[in-house]
Amino acid sequence: MLDEVAWSDMGDVVPALSADQVLTHVDVVTEKPMNVYIWDMDETLILLRSLLNGSYAGAFNGLKDHYECFQIGKRWESIILELCNEHFFFDEMIRYNEPYLNALSEFDDGRDLASFDFEADCFASFYGGVDKRRRVYRLRTIGEKYAKGLEKILDQDMLKVSTDLYDLTDKYTDGWLTSAHKLLEEALGKSPEVPAAANSPSIHCIVTAGALIPCLAKCLLCRLDDVVSSENVYSSLKVGKLQCFKWIKERFDNPNVRFCAIGDGREECPAAQAMKWPFIKIELPPDAPHRFPGLDMPTVQAYMDGKDG
Ligand SMILES: [Mg+2]
Repeated sequence: MLDEVAWSDMGDVVPALSADQVLTHVDVVTEKPMNVYIWDMDETLILLRSLLNGSYAGAFNGLKDHYECFQIGKRWESIILELCNEHFFFDEMIRYNEPYLNALSEFDDGRDLASFDFEADCFASFYGGVDKRRRVYRLRTIGEKYAKGLEKILDQDMLKVSTDLYDLTDKYTDGWLTSAHKLLEEALGKSPEVPAAANSPSIHCIVTAGALIPCLAKCLLCRLDDVVSSENVYSSLKVGKLQCFKWIKERFDNPNVRFCAIGDGREECPAAQAMKWPFIKIELPPDAPHRFPGLDMPTVQAYMDGKDG
């Protein structure tokens, strides 16, 4: 089971880009102007806690059904846990909560894991955490599954359950999920309405206050894996958002790289201020200045250009 802290902020994760879309440090040093967007997960790209505690419905002053709000949240909680437990080694890995998938890559011997028997490697007997290689095998496998996508992980019945829940949530929230995804696509130049040539190369990172593995599950279930690569998802649960922001800056830093943080603000706003990055605050109420649907690329660009007023 998830502990209370891990679960309460479980909504913060990042998805994967295809191989030709993954921008790495090598790309950054080519001097091309580039944008790095650092997204919060919960109550920013997706909704979870505000569905579970009814604050999403509450923001609409009686226009949204509270019971439906709670029920949708409970269904998300259930399907995220199921994906984590069935496919992402969650019961074994929760006590470690690495801050990102590649955190232990120095311990990876590159062994082919296609036929590796995870059931028989005595992982549980290493409680206390000395066998980093067994952990890194699991982290690498999670990243590989993420890159393959939900269709390759779930059976047809579960896939339908997840698609139905996504569609129900998107309808209930007037398109929060699809509009957030569309904005991330536009930023990458993947949208037919905004040609790639009009954009600087861009990359999306997610920094979540929740645990890493549930965040990756949420990215997959919320169809963010085609716009966020698994290695660009960070969990700040143990280290704090500021430390994650510093790692991201070190990874992509270059005079031509611009950063922008977007989230609902409790932790990432002061962290963004400490980094001197523009910060866009996402809020739930339907008349809030920045939310989904609503937030668009011209607004994001204005913040990055320092013209947000
Ligand atoms: Mg949040």
